[in-house]
Amino acid sequence: MSTKYTIPGEFKSAVDGKCPRCRTGNMFKAPLLSFKSKKMHEQCPHCNLKYEKEPGYFYVAMYVSYAFVVAELVTACVATYILTGNLESPWLYLSVAIAVSIILAPFNYRYSRVVLMYWLTPQFKFQEKYFLKGKEA
Ligand SMILES: [Zn+2]
Repeated sequence: MSTKYTIPGEFKSAVDGKCPRCRTGNMFKAPLLSFKSKKMHEQCPHCNLKYEKEPGYFYVAMYVSYAFVVAELVTACVATYILTGNLESPWLYLSVAIAVSIILAPFNYRYSRVVLMYWLTPQFKFQEKYFLKGKEA
C-alpha cells in the first residue's frame, strides 16, 4: 500500500498553528508576525471544528499564558543578572520584565491557545479521517 501523503507531526502542527483535529486548516487568520495575528478563525476552514467549544473556553488559555509569562520573566531576569551582574537596580529588572512581556505578548497569546487546544483538550485529538477529507476524492 502506497501513501500519497504524510501526516504532519503533532509538535510541528502546533508550532504552525494548525487545527488540532485535522492538522490542515489554520487556527489563525494571519501569521504570528503581523498586526492581525490575534484574529482567529471561528471554525477550522478545513474540517469545520468549532474552536471555541463552549463559551469562555479561551479563558482557560489565560492560565497557560500566565505559566508562559512566569517562565519567561524568570529566564529574562536570570539572563539580565548573568549579563550585567547588577543586583542594585530594581529599575533595570523592571524595564527588562516590561519589555519582555510586551515583546512576547503576541507569542503568548497565540501559543497559550495552541497548548490549550492541543494538550489540554482531549476532545480535540487528531483524527485521520478529517486530515484525509478532500485529499482523496
Ligand atoms: Zn480542522
